[in-house]
Amino acid sequence: MPQRIAVIGAGVLGLAVAQSLSRRGAQVTVFDKNYPGSGTSQISYAWVNANGKEPARYHELNAHAIDEHKRWQASHPASPQWLLETGTLEWATDKSTLHQIEQRAAKLAALHYPFNICDRAELLSTLPEIRLDPRVQQAWFFPSECLLYPSLFIASLLADLRASGGQLVCNNEVTTLTESDRDVHLTLASGAEWRGDQLILATGRWATELLSHCGLELAMTDANRADPVACSFLAQTQPLPIQLNCNLITPELNVRPDGAGRLMLQALDLDQHADPARPVSPDGLIGKEMLRRLHRLFNNAEGARIECIATGQRSRPSDGLPALGYISESARIYLMVSHSGMTLAPLLGRLVAEEMLSGTGSPMLSAFAPHRLLSPLNAVAKTAPAYLPAAQ
Ligand SMILES: Cc1cc2nc3c(=O)[nH]c(=O)nc-3n(C[C@H](O)[C@H](O)[C@H](O)COP(=O)(O)OP(=O)(O)OC[C@H]3O[C@@H](n4cnc5c(N)ncnc54)[C@H](O)[C@@H]3O)c2cc1C
Repeated sequence: MPQRIAVIGAGVLGLAVAQSLSRRGAQVTVFDKNYPGSGTSQISYAWVNANGKEPARYHELNAHAIDEHKRWQASHPASPQWLLETGTLEWATDKSTLHQIEQRAAKLAALHYPFNICDRAELLSTLPEIRLDPRVQQAWFFPSECLLYPSLFIASLLADLRASGGQLVCNNEVTTLTESDRDVHLTLASGAEWRGDQLILATGRWATELLSHCGLELAMTDANRADPVACSFLAQTQPLPIQLNCNLITPELNVRPDGAGRLMLQALDLDQHADPARPVSPDGLIGKEMLRRLHRLFNNAEGARIECIATGQRSRPSDGLPALGYISESARIYLMVSHSGMTLAPLLGRLVAEEMLSGTGSPMLSAFAPHRLLSPLNAVAKTAPAYLPAAQ
């Protein structure tokens, strides 16, 4: 009998593990309260990298994930390209940032993470429209890094899921879950029910909600708070005559190609104003400041306009590292929450699927077990849980 497994959450993490399980013979149903990619996965800078990710175990996970993405794209030659193997260019204009990059590069060299240093002439020929600050004499190029088009990646995951017989149930919120020694049971907002062998909570920044039904609290950054750790502005320009074919990390602005000449812009120092409760308009102060910075960085940006600015809300365990593993000894409910999900999705999808179907823990995931972040829910503050772990 194939294992019956539910995945709650059709973001990149939920869909990656769902299709991996389904392709390995499990009977998989994915539930989402909205539609695939409607959570954090639709508003992401989507830079696939292991740059500056610490500690070493986390760097290693991300570095392997880059290779997994490349293999996955190569195994779908007929699909639209969702992975752009562009590399990243980074430079600094002040001594302190320059020093930070040098230190980071030294650590990355020790980890055998590839990079090379370009001089000013190379930069000018690589980026024909750049207005390079005279202080910039060199830049670091990280050739293994990629950019992702999340929608195309999600489409490919959905196609694989369907092709292997997986089911997708949208616009139907999972409202309760209960676990027994024999099975796991869900109820949905529609009143429908699902019963099966195992379940994956891939609900991103909403993870605390269903965990509270399980009598557990997960330490996560509050994605609804105006806090630059949790939130970041991402702007998309109209198509521009700028030939950018890589990811740029510059002192004032991060810029990536976003299809048909559009650019995606991110300015981390402006994120102190990011508040999900106060959406900003492209013509407001944040948009104007981003455009000023874009004009300073590129020729041909004179007519640039921003089409939209979104406030991305990160799905981030409080220590910044993934939370991956069973939440109780009965090993039926598996938690899968992480920042850097765009980078990690294909690798985590495969490793988690292998772990669940074989019953053997993956050495690459063992450092990220969720128990470091889980605690019993304060019984006074919350309503009685619909779920009690088998051990209780
Ligand atoms: C501004 C920003 C920039 C980023 N940049 C990068 C980057 O450069 N590189 C990188 O690797 N990562 C980046 N990330 C992180 C990455 O985008 C996320 O880690 C990833 O999208 C998380 O995917 P997910 O599937 O875990 O969550 P989500 O995409 O949020 O999916 C969770 C899903 O669960 C559903 N759900 C929730 N509760 C329920 C319920 N009760 N019942 C049914 N469905 C439910 C939601 O509707 C949602 O669709 C960035 C994130 C942000 C915000």
